[in-house]
This record gives sequence, structure tokens and C-alpha cells, in this order.
Amino acid sequence: MLSQTTYIWHDGAKPTQTLRSKTRILSIDENNPALSDFPDWGFDGSSTNQAIGNNSDLVLRPVRFVDDPILGYGNYLVLCEVLHTDLTPHSTNKRARLREVLEKSGSEHDFWFGFEQEYTLFDGSTPLGWPERGYPAPQGPFYCGVGADEAFGRGLVESHAQACLDAGLMLFGTNAEVMPGQWEFQIGHRGVEGETADPLTVSDHLWLARWLLYRLGEDHQISATLEPKPVKGDWNGAGMHTNFSTMPMRDPETGMQTIERAIQSLRERHVEHIAVYGADLEERLTGEHETASINTFSAGVSDRSSSIRIPEGVSKKGCGYLEDRRPGANANPYEVAAMLIETICHY
Ligand code: ADP
Ligand code: MN
Ligand code: MN
Ligand code: MN
Repeated sequence: MLSQTTYIWHDGAKPTQTLRSKTRILSIDENNPALSDFPDWGFDGSSTNQAIGNNSDLVLRPVRFVDDPILGYGNYLVLCEVLHTDLTPHSTNKRARLREVLEKSGSEHDFWFGFEQEYTLFDGSTPLGWPERGYPAPQGPFYCGVGADEAFGRGLVESHAQACLDAGLMLFGTNAEVMPGQWEFQIGHRGVEGETADPLTVSDHLWLARWLLYRLGEDHQISATLEPKPVKGDWNGAGMHTNFSTMPMRDPETGMQTIERAIQSLRERHVEHIAVYGADLEERLTGEHETASINTFSAGVSDRSSSIRIPEGVSKKGCGYLEDRRPGANANPYEVAAMLIETICHY
């Protein structure tokens, strides 16, 4: 059938890359679609901060496609990498870098990832549910709250969750956050048989889920932002906690010692990690509001004011995964994953 295929890519916006997309009609056998059905395409890099005007053509190379849950059956969302016309990766193509790191790291680690994506909903320039002037009641009742005076934007949150499932993304769950108008969804390992939570898949899924959130926001007249500290002052910021594990971390025999060794490696490279964990991170990592200070590295069991949290259940079982609480909501999962893998594997 004739399909609407939406090609999605990352632009060159600074300091935080954003998503772009455009649509092409392709003849696709909807009973048996394959990645090779989606040809390379091009775009004007001078309009996305990726090229200069007199040499502006860049290549979109499809790398993953999913069902389009909004346009419905037979239509597709096509995630792309950006290449130069000689087919080498563009410098804004952080996915290519993650692929490289993964090739070097070999398969014995068998990394699993899970990202917690916090975000803030806005109605114009006001956080959703906030009075036009002034502030709502102080934080307290809103985290996982229910009721018209506590939860703002659930319609969008629920349609986004369903869209993620319909697209086959590895959505783990959703919850309302501490600041009113702020929510979270998680993408990654969820223990479903046959799924692989490898870093590349999970990062791709997170980017597609971000695109769906923005796109569905259009229908609700609500905009979602990934700013790490959307409201200054005594309000929680928004992060992208990154949960990860390796095979030896998940093994009861080797779990705790591997986890401790990983924390030691992370401690030594704190500065390098902070550098790729998102713009304006210093506004969020203050040491208050469930964060650790940007200048110090810390780790602890069940400790939400540390850089790295060992979940309570993991400490009890002696194996499992770690949570890196430092990345901001606006971090690029490709860059966060690549940095974690490099540090854990000691490159
Ligand atoms: P929190 O208690 O920090 O709010 P959430 O319930 O929001 O945690 O999210 C848990 C995250 O941990 C999910 O993204 C999930 O994919 C991830 N996760 C769970 N187990 C593992 C594991 N063994 N390896 C990597 N990630 C994991
Ligand atoms: Mn969470
Ligand atoms: Mn959270
Ligand atoms: Mn968390």
C-alpha cells in the first residue's frame, strides 16, 4: 500500500539537539515491511544547523522503523542517522559513536539499559496546572498524585503511553512527578521475554518516545520540555536517571563486587560524565531536591541524594543494576550510554 513514512532525525541545535521530521509516501508491503524498504533520503542541513548554505545537502539513513501509532496501520516512523554525502557520519550523529563504542566493548558484558525520562508540560509559558501568576501549593502531594487538583495532563500522558506500546517501544511505566505539571516515563529493560534491552535499541526507543510526546502534545495544545530546571527555586528539576547492568552485575556470584568496581571507575571519571550529561546541568545538580552536587561524586544504597544509587532490592539480592542519577532530562541517551560503557569497560 501507499504508506506515510515519517523520517525522524537529530538536528545540530546547540547546546541541545532536537528532533526534526518530514514525511514521504512510499509503496510498502504492509504485511512484510523491512528496513531496506525505506531508502536513503536527503534534507537541507543549512536549516538545521548542520551545514552551510552553499554545501547544504545531507543524507538521512534509515536505521530503525516502527509502526506509526498515530497515523495507524501501514504507516511508519523511521529513525535515521545523519550522514555526509560521502556516507560518513555527521558530527551531530551521536548514534554512530555509540555503535562504535559497542563494537569495541564486545558482547561479554551484555549491557541492559533503562532510562527514566522526566519532562515538564507547559501551557504556553506556564507549567501545566500552574496559576498564570504566582505559584501552586508547595511540592508534596503531586508525586504519583491523583485528582484534578494534583495531576495535570494525564490525558496526554496516557495517550503517549498507549502510542509507545502501539509502536512496539519498550515502555516500562509512567508516573506523575514531584513538581506539578512534571511527569516521567521509563523506557528499557522490563523483563519481557524475547526483548533485548541493549543500549542502542533502548536509546533509539527513547528518542522515538520523545518524538511521540512532542507530536501528541500538538493535539493537546500542550508542549513538553526536557529542560533540567524549568522552574528555578524550590521546585524539583527534571532528570534522565540511567539504569544499567552488565551480565556479571546480574550474576549473584559476581554481582556486588562488579557493581563496586563499576562505582570506583565511575568515581574516577566524574568530570567526563558530567560533560555529556546535558546542558544547564548545574542548575539541577545542586545537592537539593533529590540530587547530588555537580562537583562531588557519591554512591549509596537507596540514596536519592547520591550520584549513583544502588537500589535497595539490588543490595539485598547482591546483584542487579545501578542507577546513575546525574543525567539531565535533556541529555542525549546515545552520549550517556557511550560514556557509561567506555567507563565500565575501561577504554
Ligand atoms: P525509580 O525507583 O528510580 O523511580 P523506575 O521504576 O522509575 O525507578 O525505573 C526503573 C528503571 O530501571 C526502568 O527504566 C527499567 O528499565 C530499569 N531497570 C530495571 N532492571 C534493570 C536491569 N537489570 N538493568 C538495567 N536496567 C534495569
Ligand atoms: Mn522513576
Ligand atoms: Mn523520577
Ligand atoms: Mn530513578
